[in-house]
Amino acid sequence: MTRKGYRFLLKPTAEQAELFCRFAGSSRFVWNKALECQKSCLKNGKGVFSYAEICGRLVEWKDEFHFLKEVHSQPLQQSVKDLSLALKHCFDGSKGFPKFKKKGDHDTFRFPQGTKLDNKKVYLPKIGWVKFRKSQEIEGTIKNVTVTRSMGNWFVSIQVEMDVQDPMHPSKNEVGIDMGVTRFATLSDGSFVAPINSFGQVRSKLAGALRKLARKQKYSNNWRKQKRKVQRIHSKIAHVRKDFLHKLTSSISKNHAVIVLEDLKVKNMSASAKGTIEDPGKNVKAKSGLNRSILDQGWHEFRRQLEYKQQWRGGQVILVNPSHTSLQCSECHHRAKENRVSQAEFKCVMCHHEEHADLNAAKNILAAGAPCKPVEILSRMLLKPRNLPSFRAERTSTKSPCLHG
Ligand SMILES: [Zn+2]
Repeated sequence: MTRKGYRFLLKPTAEQAELFCRFAGSSRFVWNKALECQKSCLKNGKGVFSYAEICGRLVEWKDEFHFLKEVHSQPLQQSVKDLSLALKHCFDGSKGFPKFKKKGDHDTFRFPQGTKLDNKKVYLPKIGWVKFRKSQEIEGTIKNVTVTRSMGNWFVSIQVEMDVQDPMHPSKNEVGIDMGVTRFATLSDGSFVAPINSFGQVRSKLAGALRKLARKQKYSNNWRKQKRKVQRIHSKIAHVRKDFLHKLTSSISKNHAVIVLEDLKVKNMSASAKGTIEDPGKNVKAKSGLNRSILDQGWHEFRRQLEYKQQWRGGQVILVNPSHTSLQCSECHHRAKENRVSQAEFKCVMCHHEEHADLNAAKNILAAGAPCKPVEILSRMLLKPRNLPSFRAERTSTKSPCLHG
C-alpha cells in the first residue's frame, strides 16, 4: 500500500467560500485554544493533555462558543489530532514547539472521512458539492481531504491509498546528473537543462512591489491592496518553478531506472552563509548571492520529486559524495586541480580528454553511484526494506570504478 496526494484548485461559490472561512477559522480557534491549554498545563508541571482530554474540553468550548456548533465536528477534532501530533514531533526532537496560528496565513481544515468524489466535484460534509479544476485522474481510495487557502485561492488536497504491486521500472537506463548554476542540470548522456530563473526575471518587480509596500501605512486599505500584489508575484514565482520542475522530473524519471545525484546539502549550504555568532560567515555577500540562486533553482525540490516519482515506478535514486566529481577525469580517472581550465571547460592533464566540465562531472557521478547494472540494483533493492526512498552510496565503495584510476 502506498499513499499519494493530489492537489486541485477549488471553484467554490460565494456561499461556499464563506463557509470555508468559517470552517478554517473555527479549526484555527480550536488549535489555538488547545495549545493555550497545553502551554499552561506544561507551565504548571502537569505534563501534556491526551487527545481524549482535549476532546472533552472541545465539548465544553462548543457550549461556550456557539459558532463552533455551526461547523462540522470532524475538522475540529482533526485540529486537536494535528496538535497532538505536532507535540509528539516536538518531544521527539524532530520539530520545534507548535505555534499559535494567525488568521490568513495558510487557513486550513481537514476531513478524515465523509467525503465523496464525483468527476469534477468533491463532497465536503456540511458544505456540499464543491467544483474543482480537475487536472488529472484520481486513482485509489480516499483517505482524507484537506482544504487550504494559499495566496487568495482555495485548494483541495486529496490523499489516497492504493495497492501497488512491487513496480518494475519500464526502462533499464541509468543516468548521472550534475547540478549547477549556469546549467540547472547536466545529464551524463550529454543533454542539459537551462536554468529556470523564474525568480530572477521577476525579482526586480518583486523588489519594487516590496518598496511600495514599505511606504504604505501599515494595515491601511492601500497597504492591504499592495500586500495582495506582492502575494500574487510570490504565487506566480512558485507556480512557474513547480510546473517546470514537475515536467523535468517526470521525463527524467520515466526514462531512467537509476538516477545518481550528488548529495548536496542544500539546506546546510544556504544556512552557512550567515554563519553563527561565534563564526560569522566569510564571503557573506558572494555566498548569499549563490544561495539565492541555489534556492531559486529549486535543487531540493528537484531531488524530492525525483525520489518519490522513482519510488512509484520502481526506480531508484542514489546519492553520492560530491567531493572531487568536478576535478576528476571521467576517462582515465586522473584527479588534479589543473584539469579544470575554467568554469565550463575540462581538459585532463594526463590523457588530454576534453569535455564540458559539467558533463565530465555528470559522468563521474554516474560512475560513483551506479557501478552495477540497473537490474542488479533493482534486485538488491527488493531485499532492502521498502519505504526508503534512497540509500547513500559512498564514493569509497570498493565497487566504484573511480577508485581504480
Ligand atoms: Zn584523463
